[in-house]
Amino acid sequence: MSKAAVIGAGFGGLALAIRLQSAGVETALVEGRDKPGGRAYFWEKDGFTFDAGPTVITDPNCLAELWQLTGADISTDIELMPVHPFYRLNWPDGTNFDYSNDEVALTREIEKLNPADVEGYRRFVDYSAGVYEEGYVKLGAIPFLDFKSMLKAAPQLVRKQAWRSVYSIVSSFVENEKLREALSFHTLLVGGNPFKTSALYALIHKLEKDGGVWFAKGGTNRLVQAMVAHFERIGGTLRLGDPVTKIETLGERVTGLICASGWQEDFDAVATNADIMHSYRDLLTGTKRGERAARSLERKSFSPSLFVVHFGVEGTWPGISHHMILFGPRYEGLLTDIYDHGVLSEDFSLYLHHPTVTDPSMAPQDHSSFYALAPVPHLGKFPVDWDVIAKDYADRILDHIEARLIPGLRERIVTRFHYTPKDFGHDLNAYLGSAFSLEQLLTQSAYFRVHNRDDVVENLYFVGAGTHPGAGIPGVVGSAKATAGLMLDDLAR
Ligand SMILES: Cc1cc2nc3c(=O)[nH]c(=O)nc-3n(C[C@H](O)[C@H](O)[C@H](O)COP(=O)(O)OP(=O)(O)OC[C@H]3O[C@@H](n4cnc5c(N)ncnc54)[C@H](O)[C@@H]3O)c2cc1C
Repeated sequence: MSKAAVIGAGFGGLALAIRLQSAGVETALVEGRDKPGGRAYFWEKDGFTFDAGPTVITDPNCLAELWQLTGADISTDIELMPVHPFYRLNWPDGTNFDYSNDEVALTREIEKLNPADVEGYRRFVDYSAGVYEEGYVKLGAIPFLDFKSMLKAAPQLVRKQAWRSVYSIVSSFVENEKLREALSFHTLLVGGNPFKTSALYALIHKLEKDGGVWFAKGGTNRLVQAMVAHFERIGGTLRLGDPVTKIETLGERVTGLICASGWQEDFDAVATNADIMHSYRDLLTGTKRGERAARSLERKSFSPSLFVVHFGVEGTWPGISHHMILFGPRYEGLLTDIYDHGVLSEDFSLYLHHPTVTDPSMAPQDHSSFYALAPVPHLGKFPVDWDVIAKDYADRILDHIEARLIPGLRERIVTRFHYTPKDFGHDLNAYLGSAFSLEQLLTQSAYFRVHNRDDVVENLYFVGAGTHPGAGIPGVVGSAKATAGLMLDDLAR
């Protein structure tokens, strides 16, 4: 029986570990923190449950597949609840737009903004379905190890105008600015600027239209716990609270791992779900390969960070949707400040998470839990001491929500805390505190992203947001499929 290790229990690491163990490889999942989940960590405070990261679950089939590998059923471990509308989008002038896959309701929403755009929207749906088929179904879970594989995909990319941005392609179908924002903001959920991310990412529209938007009962943390339960049931082992300090190599092969506790073990193959820069620079320290790869990563563009305020509040708000986007007065200008200029602007666009409207069990009775998230520049572009400015920034966000959406909010808050770019760096070893690893650019996609198998160290593999296809739960679960395919083939040789 072959033995493999996966470093890091994020969604990508968990999905890969399940795939390996399901195929009969004795798999150890080694996580540095006290809880699994990575970006999907969670806290329990004063009776409230706060998920740290992902809240929008799309393509539930890619998760169900992890159970089906051994004939099991995801529903024995977790209940996924549908969310309607998927998102409520709100602008400073008070306009609301409920976004969902209900054709009739969505058409009505579009007509409210601009009746002339209904026809353009229909053509956009066709475009989205095409890129979904080419970009997600066909290419989403295959490893791009050589340039040849990129060339093979090139005709599809050209046909779908992949060099254009999501915003530009959306604008070719619809005229209304608010509708353009409504159909392009999704890339922000995976760290991509809609003005720079490839038009291929318009596939998210089709992904959500067909697969829906879901919420795990009890929070995303419960989905993580479900994956762990399933992994352990099929014989895998999870080692928590013991960061890997070194990937041991002999020549151009990995031999095993060493952890902070002194625990060490030999493995036939090792995959890392940890941050890509951390893996090369810190875990392969002293090796030529590690140093070279780290230098090359320094020249790449990393996605921004996030600032998240979590707050538990007295009272309930059945009228506030589960997922809200509170757009600011600027769209492109704000994103250019964040992505390019490294400016922390006076204005912001917020994503507001309100899980208790779907699942009241996440707060004490007659209370609600929320988080508000603002994209902010990463630490390389905006090297501020977040400990100094965080409290004021959180206050500004809460004031904004109070003025715009929840009168009297500040008086009703019973617990609150925030999470900064510095925390991403400290807790997750995230390079520059980036929330989504490498920026989603065409020039950093597929073959141009970190490969699922290292080019030099032959039994070292990568999985997660820094690899193909990129960030987001469906993305990293797809990367696990690509990496597992390679590992299982190599281990069988
Ligand atoms: C606030 C926020 C909201 C988001 N919302 C959504 C959403 O709604 N929907 C969606 O699909 N996506 C969302 N995303 C993106 C998504 O959460 C991530 O892209 C995805 O979870 C990343 O998974 P990953 O496999 O790359 O691993 P990560 O989550 O990055 O986990 C990596 C793991 O490696 C561990 N590790 C690091 N170094 C070591 C070491 N030396 N030894 C051992 N372990 C180590 C870390 O502790 C961590 O547990 C969101 C992200 C954030 C931050």
